[in-house]
Amino acid sequence: MLKSHNIEINPKYYKEFGMETLVGIIKHELCHYHLHIEGKGYKHRDLDFKQLMNKVGAPRFCQPLPPNQQNQTILLYRCEKCEKQYRRKRKVDTRKYVCGRCRGKLIYMGREVFVKK
Ligand SMILES: [Zn+2]
Ligand SMILES: [Zn+2]
Repeated sequence: MLKSHNIEINPKYYKEFGMETLVGIIKHELCHYHLHIEGKGYKHRDLDFKQLMNKVGAPRFCQPLPPNQQNQTILLYRCEKCEKQYRRKRKVDTRKYVCGRCRGKLIYMGREVFVKK
């Protein structure tokens, strides 16, 4: 990836993961890029890299793998009202879908990635 100073973002990620994740991915890639140019440790295990990740609030890992490739991603949602939790394989449009129990608003909580072995 760092043979050239190009940052590649697969447009598929935007469709699959949405804007928030995409911004995270771009931040992450920019950190690689920035440190690489500065001649600092730009790899995941390098301290410079970890520190910069923390500073900008970017995810520590590169572009997530598309679901059903190797890892399984579970998206976590929680109802704002009754706190019921939902685990979904696909992104839920929280403007459209509401809690099945109380019809409260669903909030995105983050995701869990299971690595298949
Ligand atoms: Zn990376
Ligand atoms: Zn509810």
